[in-house]
Amino acid sequence: MDDEPISIKCVLLGESGTGKSSLIERFINNTFKKDTLSTLIGSFSSKIVFYEKENIKIRFDIWDTAGQEKYRSINKIFYQDAQVTLLVYDITQEDTYKAIKDYWFSEVKENSPEDAIIFLIGNKSDLYEKEVVNEEEARQYANEINSLYKLVSAQTGEGIEDIFKMVGERLLTEEFLQKIKEENNANNNRNSIKNIMAENTKEIKKKKKCC
Ligand code: GDP
Repeated sequence: MDDEPISIKCVLLGESGTGKSSLIERFINNTFKKDTLSTLIGSFSSKIVFYEKENIKIRFDIWDTAGQEKYRSINKIFYQDAQVTLLVYDITQEDTYKAIKDYWFSEVKENSPEDAIIFLIGNKSDLYEKEVVNEEEARQYANEINSLYKLVSAQTGEGIEDIFKMVGERLLTEEFLQKIKEENNANNNRNSIKNIMAENTKEIKKKKKCC
């Protein structure tokens, strides 16, 4: 594999206050700030992760979004071409989990590329004594929707590295690596997989137009 990282667009969705910005802060800078400002519409950061077994680097371009209802239609811009979507709920707030089931999951499923990776994340595992969302139930739900699942804490850092390890395991299949190789050979476009997944996005848009 060449040295150029592959770019993967990743978006965090979920209700306000679930810890999306804090998770990004932990992942990018390995820090936690108690008082965060609400994300206005969207913000962007990126980090390169090296996958040793496959000898490949992925640059995750991570978009944080505002969870408030008034921004929901704008959020579509962020997830319609995201290859990885992290659906975040707060384990101490039942309504944030319910919002994933009632709203966020179907939104993402309908508007993301067909083979996008969806990851259900229960944040604030350090507050386990206040947990109101049953972990087993959430894990089972994730299974039903063919999503990955992880309980994490942006505050302590527990489970954060695992998220991107697990994404890599799901993403870096033989078939995927072969596609990248072919694409690199064909157009020498070494740092983008957008074309691979753009076809799926086009399909979704076509379907929408026709019916
Ligand atoms: P966002 O609106 O989803 O981006 O959520 P924020 O990242 O702004 O976090 C909302 C609040 O939850 C802030 O007061 C954070 O300090 C707090 N918070 C975020 N993650 C954790 C966590 O893992 N544990 C605890 N105890 N608090 C957290």
